[in-house]
Amino acid sequence: AKASGRNALRFFDPEMQAVVVDRARMEGDLRQALHNEELRLYYQSQVNADGCIIGVEALVRWEHPARGMVSPAEFIPLAEENNLIGPIGTWVLETACRQLARWAQSSTTEALDIAVNVSPNQFRQVGFVEEVQQILERTGADPRRLKLEVTETLLMEEVEDVRSRMETLRCMGIRFSLDDFGTGYSSLAYLKRLPLDQLKIDQSFVRDVLEDPADAAIVRTVISLAHSLELDVIAEGVETEAHRQWLFHHGCVAYQGYLFSRPCPVAELALDAH
Ligand code: C2E
Ligand code: CA
Ligand code: CA
Ligand code: CA
Repeated sequence: AKASGRNALRFFDPEMQAVVVDRARMEGDLRQALHNEELRLYYQSQVNADGCIIGVEALVRWEHPARGMVSPAEFIPLAEENNLIGPIGTWVLETACRQLARWAQSSTTEALDIAVNVSPNQFRQVGFVEEVQQILERTGADPRRLKLEVTETLLMEEVEDVRSRMETLRCMGIRFSLDDFGTGYSSLAYLKRLPLDQLKIDQSFVRDVLEDPADAAIVRTVISLAHSLELDVIAEGVETEAHRQWLFHHGCVAYQGYLFSRPCPVAELALDAH
């Protein structure tokens, strides 16, 4: 009885309670984050075989007044659960599009493409297509410079609706990349039915590609699948020159990762290498 009493007590472990309270506080803070202008959009370069920047991926951060920079891996799932992904996603898209317009107007910087992550729940929201259209009009961004990164989760339900939304956006000039490819459960049949432009090889496969024959086989397969379907392919999580060379030798000629740059504020992007 004593032991079970102790176990029961563990349920109200002050440490555990602290976690719950902390989470609740984070949720409240996240609601305020947009209003308080605490979100930052970082950019990570994407490079070709010559090491030239061909585009950037926009990655959101939350500059919390007390916690410092909070990772999206922490607050995006929270936002998904609390209906905050809509407004946050809107802010990200609008900020990225304003950056595209700024680059287009600049005489010193050559225009780059921006890839923006779109959560499944954000993509499925009523009026998403119209919103993208409005943001493009409002900012004057060229839709041909905008790429949306979607995940396989999006393809699991209502594929027909998803497909038609993608078609509409694609007619406007927007391109689509399938992010984290291979980590989800999407059927390969979707690949030929959806208006995709690019497959993005997930970093979990890239990481051990030099040592793990299974990962190497997966990466080789994704590259050849992309080629057969006439899709672009880009590898993320490229951290070393050995990784880059392996990918190059296996036909992947677009890379993103710490080898080239960490995500950073726009002012710190090394655009001179362009
Ligand atoms: P993701 O879309 O797969 O983005 C790639 C993640 O890998 C980023 O983490 C990036 O900083 C990190 N990364 C880049 N290069 C390397 C590398 O060489 N090695 C390693 N180990 N990691 C690398 P980050 O910025 O923390 O973002 C985490 C995830 O949060 C993203 O994964 C994406 O799913 C989500 N996310 C980020 N920004 C947004 C956004 O604006 N909207 C939505 N819906 N999700 C976002
Ligand atoms: Ca991404
Ligand atoms: Ca990934
Ligand atoms: Ca992801």
